[in-house]
Amino acid sequence: IGTRRASLTSTRTTCGYCGVGCALDVLTRDGDVAAVRPAADGPVNRGHACVKGRFSHGFLRSPERLTRPLLRRRSGLEPVSWGEALDHIARGLRAAVGEAGPDAVAAISSARATNEENYLIQKFMRAVIGTNNVDNCSRLCHSPSAAGLTAAFGLPGGTDGFEDVERADCLLVVGANPVEAHPVVGARLLQQVLKGARLVVVDPRAVGLAGHADVHLRPRPGTNVAVFNGLAHVLLAENLIDEEFLRHRADGLPALAALLDDYAPDRVSTITGVPAPDLVAAARLYGRAERPAIVYGLGVTEHLHGTDGVRTLANLAILRGAVGTERGFGVNPLRGQNNVQGASDMGALPDLLPGYGRVGDPVARARAEQVWGTRLPAHDGLRIAQMFAAARSGDLRVLWVVGEDVCATDPDADRVVEALEACPLVISQDLFLSETARHADVVLPAASWLEKDGTFVNFDRRFQRVRPALAPPGEARTDFAVVHAIAAACGADLGCPTPAAALAECGRVAPVFAGISHQRLDREGAIPWPCPDPGRPGQVKLHRDRFATPDGLAHLAARPYLPPGESADDDYPLILITGRRWAHYNSGNMTRRSGNIRLDAADRLDIHPADAARHGVRDGDRVLVQSRHGRATLPVRVTEELLPGQLFCAFHFPSSRVNALTSGHADTVTSCPEYKVTAVRLRGSPPL
Ligand code: SF4
Repeated sequence: IGTRRASLTSTRTTCGYCGVGCALDVLTRDGDVAAVRPAADGPVNRGHACVKGRFSHGFLRSPERLTRPLLRRRSGLEPVSWGEALDHIARGLRAAVGEAGPDAVAAISSARATNEENYLIQKFMRAVIGTNNVDNCSRLCHSPSAAGLTAAFGLPGGTDGFEDVERADCLLVVGANPVEAHPVVGARLLQQVLKGARLVVVDPRAVGLAGHADVHLRPRPGTNVAVFNGLAHVLLAENLIDEEFLRHRADGLPALAALLDDYAPDRVSTITGVPAPDLVAAARLYGRAERPAIVYGLGVTEHLHGTDGVRTLANLAILRGAVGTERGFGVNPLRGQNNVQGASDMGALPDLLPGYGRVGDPVARARAEQVWGTRLPAHDGLRIAQMFAAARSGDLRVLWVVGEDVCATDPDADRVVEALEACPLVISQDLFLSETARHADVVLPAASWLEKDGTFVNFDRRFQRVRPALAPPGEARTDFAVVHAIAAACGADLGCPTPAAALAECGRVAPVFAGISHQRLDREGAIPWPCPDPGRPGQVKLHRDRFATPDGLAHLAARPYLPPGESADDDYPLILITGRRWAHYNSGNMTRRSGNIRLDAADRLDIHPADAARHGVRDGDRVLVQSRHGRATLPVRVTEELLPGQLFCAFHFPSSRVNALTSGHADTVTSCPEYKVTAVRLRGSPPL
């Protein structure tokens, strides 16, 4: 045993699954992972990790790992050399730009890739190709958070560090199921409740924390804005507001107060289905707490009016003076993927440069132009859904998809497949021959998070190091190396040859990150942004003296409730909500190829017993689900976790094709898809 233990190598890295950012010690031996230990000194996890971070590494050894580039020939995808694959890509890029201009090329970057990789991809698209057509998958989850928090407070990140949230005496957890989707945070929130904090849960489903809640509000899917306006109405009506804070540090109260006249609890109850007394009780708990905190998830953002949801939720913290002060712990989004925050921080967005300068702002653009030594395009690029539309209409000639399985995870999946089939050159960079890779013309073998060097930014804005515990298999390369190789094949030199150099250069483009470096992270472990100065710590709690808005004030938003894109009707009488399960992660490409498959072997359609009886289905029966957009066949799980009329399903197994059902409706501000509200019917479903 002594000899075997002596041969173990330990590598400190950051979990590559959810946005909690658990620090992990990965023990390797003979080129394989022997064990993963949660780091006792991890700033967020403190010795804990969930089933994904600890045990979902079997995918590394999967015989299905891609180890060579593939190129589409008449007979299908065939292995080729890196040189041949890169030549093909460079020829395609040159032809597209030469014949149709730089905007005929687009890239979808990834919230799973490191900061340095996201930085390099957007730099390549802007400085080499000459287009802002670069987006990342945060478009599909938390883009309304970035827009809503920026409008309310001036910065696109959560307002407080998680250790502050842990001092809260009242937790308002909205549209999130952290016990399954962010288990380490879920456990810490529960500990806080067991220590005496009051808990209000707002979620249509009886999610894990709901059983511990003082009040559980279960609004009809798509009615969040009415709920938040109703809570704000009670805060105002019962004078549970901080008048001094509102006088000196916020604006917008008169317009909001006028709007809230229409959101008395009885009317809100009619819209949302939430009993009026429960709404009042929830508002009183939040409004009377000394140190309230709001934690929310995709149940707030993935709606037709997701940005309005974030704004009206932020209203509650502003009315209470519970943001930017010691009396409360603000508004804090739980990020789904490991690097959702970082991918956007690095400027993998069609309208924003690294550090969130607008591409149309000459000052922000000039700073990047000076560092990169070239002129940059000034008009916004395409968002992900617009890229697919451009491909279908023939305007897009090259689509480069980095580490995303868009056919499995993006909504209205049949239209996504049509887009990939219509685009002359699709490049997929992935660990496996994913659904998206199967439709690609060039497939490049990629490295996983356990094989990479760089940094991630977690949900409370902490940069943390990612270190390679293993080498990628065969000829697989990191996304960082691939972007450099494609640039070189195009005759361009992107500079910043190492991830450390890339982060250093990013700090020159975006001063908000200028104090953060690999060397400093190696010494200090984690550094939150903003951190403009290498000699000073980053800022955990934001907005202490003034908000980051141009006028320094927090902005209340008067937003009316507007109905979701789809509602139940005679043809489609049930509402489908999609989300995640405990053992799996998004498209499931990694977790399905790990031991976790034994814990959860299929997507299941949750259905209330009354609906199950009405449709004559029992646990385990397979049913055909139809929406206006597509169909899927799923086994059912009968459960009272849902209210009658609602269904829930995850999308971890491509064979279930859950996103063939979801619609093209999207947030009116950010284009974040409305995953949480799709009207469906079961085969044989009788009219209501
Ligand atoms: Fe931590 Fe999230 Fe990884 Fe689980 S998946 S170990 S909660 S970072």
